[in-house]
Amino acid sequence: MPDVMVAARASEASGSKTQQVDVAVVGAGFAGLYLLHRLRKAGFTTVALDEAGDVGGTWYWNRYPGARCDIQTIDYSYTFDPELEGAWKWSEKYATQPEILRYLGFVADRYDLRRDIRFHTKVTAATWDQVAERWQLTTDHGATISCRYYIMATGCLSSPKPPEIDGVKDFKGKVYFTGRWPHEELKFVGKRVAVIGTGSSAIQSIPLIAEQAAHLTVFQRTPNFALPAHNGPAPAERATLLESDRAGYREQARWSLAGVPLPQQTVVSWQLSDAERRERFEQAWAAGDLVFMLTQLWADQGVDVDGNALLAELFREKIRSIVKDPETAAALTPYDHPFGSKRPCLDTNYYATYNRPNVTLVNLRQEPIASITASGIKTDKRSFDIDVIVFATGFDAMTGAIKAVHPITGRGGKSLTDVWADGPQTYLGLTVAGFPNLFLVTGPGSPSVLSNMAVSIEQHVDWVVDRLIAIQAAGFTAIEATETAQTGWARHMADCSTLTLHRLANTWYTGANVPGKPQGVMPYTGGVGPYRSICNEVVGGGMLGFRLTGPNGAEQCNDGEIVRLQPDVRLVLNMLAEMNLPPIESLGAQGARDFVAEFNKSRPAGRPVGEIVDGTLPLTDGSLPYRLYRPAAPGPHPIAVYFHGGGWVLGDEQSDDPLCRDICRRAEMIVVSVGYRHAPEHRFPTAAEDGYAATRWIAEHAAKLGGRPGPVAVAGWSAGANIAAVTCQLARDRGGPEIAGQLLVCPVTDCAFDRPSYGDNAAGYFLTRPLMFWFWDIYCSPADRTDPRVSPLRGQLAGLPPAFVVTCEFDPLRDEGVAYAEALAAAGVPVEQLQARGHFHSSFAMVDVVITGVSGRARMAEALRRFAGLPQKTAQSGESIPQGRQASSPELNAAAK
Ligand SMILES: Cc1cc2nc3c(=O)[nH]c(=O)nc-3n(C[C@H](O)[C@H](O)[C@H](O)COP(=O)(O)OP(=O)(O)OC[C@H]3O[C@@H](n4cnc5c(N)ncnc54)[C@H](O)[C@@H]3O)c2cc1C
Repeated sequence: MPDVMVAARASEASGSKTQQVDVAVVGAGFAGLYLLHRLRKAGFTTVALDEAGDVGGTWYWNRYPGARCDIQTIDYSYTFDPELEGAWKWSEKYATQPEILRYLGFVADRYDLRRDIRFHTKVTAATWDQVAERWQLTTDHGATISCRYYIMATGCLSSPKPPEIDGVKDFKGKVYFTGRWPHEELKFVGKRVAVIGTGSSAIQSIPLIAEQAAHLTVFQRTPNFALPAHNGPAPAERATLLESDRAGYREQARWSLAGVPLPQQTVVSWQLSDAERRERFEQAWAAGDLVFMLTQLWADQGVDVDGNALLAELFREKIRSIVKDPETAAALTPYDHPFGSKRPCLDTNYYATYNRPNVTLVNLRQEPIASITASGIKTDKRSFDIDVIVFATGFDAMTGAIKAVHPITGRGGKSLTDVWADGPQTYLGLTVAGFPNLFLVTGPGSPSVLSNMAVSIEQHVDWVVDRLIAIQAAGFTAIEATETAQTGWARHMADCSTLTLHRLANTWYTGANVPGKPQGVMPYTGGVGPYRSICNEVVGGGMLGFRLTGPNGAEQCNDGEIVRLQPDVRLVLNMLAEMNLPPIESLGAQGARDFVAEFNKSRPAGRPVGEIVDGTLPLTDGSLPYRLYRPAAPGPHPIAVYFHGGGWVLGDEQSDDPLCRDICRRAEMIVVSVGYRHAPEHRFPTAAEDGYAATRWIAEHAAKLGGRPGPVAVAGWSAGANIAAVTCQLARDRGGPEIAGQLLVCPVTDCAFDRPSYGDNAAGYFLTRPLMFWFWDIYCSPADRTDPRVSPLRGQLAGLPPAFVVTCEFDPLRDEGVAYAEALAAAGVPVEQLQARGHFHSSFAMVDVVITGVSGRARMAEALRRFAGLPQKTAQSGESIPQGRQASSPELNAAAK
């Protein structure tokens, strides 16, 4: 019997009945309300349940003084109905809690939602009935519920964290929690008030409480960065932008990184002078916009510790300039996390409040709370007499409200609490393997709290409801994520978390604020737009990673992982695909060179090194240009001779500039990039012979170049790695120079094209099979191709210098690189391999674009240092990121700065 026929509306159902619906929604906040609206419109019978007494969710519970949104309200609104947008006008840039609550009430009225919401009703258990293929929900009030689909819109920040301090129940004064604030107005006049915590809620409420209280004592464990909101009317220029093209404005937000329509910053910190950086910072400070401050100053502020430190220090200066007492200022100044890795706050007079005579800051790092007594709070140094304690201790974020519904029992009696014992596992943050027909809105594994949640909520709701409609139309009754898809998502999440600095902080994003909670970055850090495109790809791929089942054994399962590329590689490849570029091999050699030169202009500038010197080195029949990169530290430094990529046809001594700078900085070695001659003007074996001759000259003139005399290392990428490998063989066979080691990044090593990687990665990863054929054809006639000077895999390998061989998963050259490393090892050459998962041929050359390549590049630099006999650099805590499989040697804990 179809669900719709057994459904009965039972908002006022008695406790003994079971309410039958197609879909049950828990939560009547931003998410629950929109769900109800969409589900109803789609014809599903639906009930929403909320523990609260009315709609609003977050905005129903968080009524503390100063509670406001911290995303501009113009952006923190529903966008699904332009008429709704037209019917509501926000009064302020950042609306207050009462206004947001009124807005959500207005939405509930407009779409007549309350009639399907059961308030004051907490869901206490949810059990999947495999036979009926329905969820059975138990509540603490009224009828139980039987539903086909169970959607938890329970909120990321709706489960307040209980205080971890002894003696709260002994306290004789009043106790309040910011996340469960009373509905009546509280008066603090004449009271001695304590606020415990300095997160967002505390930072918003402290200035207002201080204005009333006889004395306010703030107990701070971790200082936070707070930016003045400069609240007032919605900025006219933003409003004009919205009014002039509402649809375009909203669409830009949907595809942005944070759910707010701001462009992606492309200028990196080292391209700006101190004065320019300060100017940008001051502008952001004056703008009072958190997302602006978090994303618009310079491109590396959120992904690189150095870029971030520049911003954090400007912030700290501000705190010191506002807070008069140096000791208090020092205590309020954060040093334990990069800016933005913990949610910064928006404030009104927060820091200045500490200049008031009736406010005291207690630094719990120096004097922890020992206990709460009947009359106040005792630290291990002093006692404070207190009338009112306000706990602003935050939430058991992201998983708290989901796990609080105990037990959620899925297929085979599996409990969600057990399944998540080591941390939440989801597919897309929306579903959990083993829990059919269960959906989480803004669950762990989705952008959620790292985004404008209004945008994320709408995307989730639309995706889920559209899927339910499609599933029903196709005659399926159950949908469940596969284990493969879920494991793949966990891997993608981990890859994404290496992109940002969130992993370097202990915060509620990582579960660190709740004792005993498993640690890990819970929200998806890959961005709102990329996440949206992934969800769309799941659908486009035939519900990739989901098993759909229905009556009479109907089943569809297109199993697999949705993202196997590193997240930034995926972005780069998508961007290239969107550019619809002609195949390079169709441009002719000169056209291709012009194209590459043009393309290189758009890449971020390389980081500064001590010195860059251009020169020429002599050959018997002419000369070759070179570019020398010298480290900033005093020398003499060992030398690495570098050969650029470009298929023996493209590029020059400057074309791998960012990688050369990176090697120079990390390895602290001189890098001499050689402009060897190219085909078709100079075919095989010119490039190989140039490489060898250049290496010999550089080795012989090491001291003149300011380098350390002695063996040099050779390094190269792609065809350049081919030249480096060949140079090692020639140097061994021709009596020198002595080579300390070879770093081969995605090398060409053989003229055979039948290895699987040539087929697997024939198209779609920039270096294509046809492009490689074109390079080979231009450089080398078929008769010469087995010559070891172009196919070093076919040469003698014994007696070669130690090697570090890097291969990338999505590269036609992958397997010949692996084959070379294995052959070297078999010949007794010390060799290490880095098989970089999720990377493509250009990953390691795209320094500061492919940020997930950082740890790989750090390992390469360490390898060069070992070749040169330099001591290993010490790792920076938390900065080492395993990059792929290693064929030998223990994990290098290399600095990934
Ligand atoms: C003070 C504060 C300010 C914020 N400001 C912003 C901002 O500016 N921008 C932004 O993007 N986000 C902000 N957020 C995050 C905010 O939570 C989301 O923007 C959004 O309101 C979440 O909506 P939701 O419907 O998903 O969840 P919620 O609004 O949290 O609603 C969940 C509801 O589920 C109910 N519930 C949970 N478990 C059960 C159960 N077992 N049984 C019955 N009912 C249950 C709860 O009672 C609650 O009403 C803020 C959060 C806080 C706390």
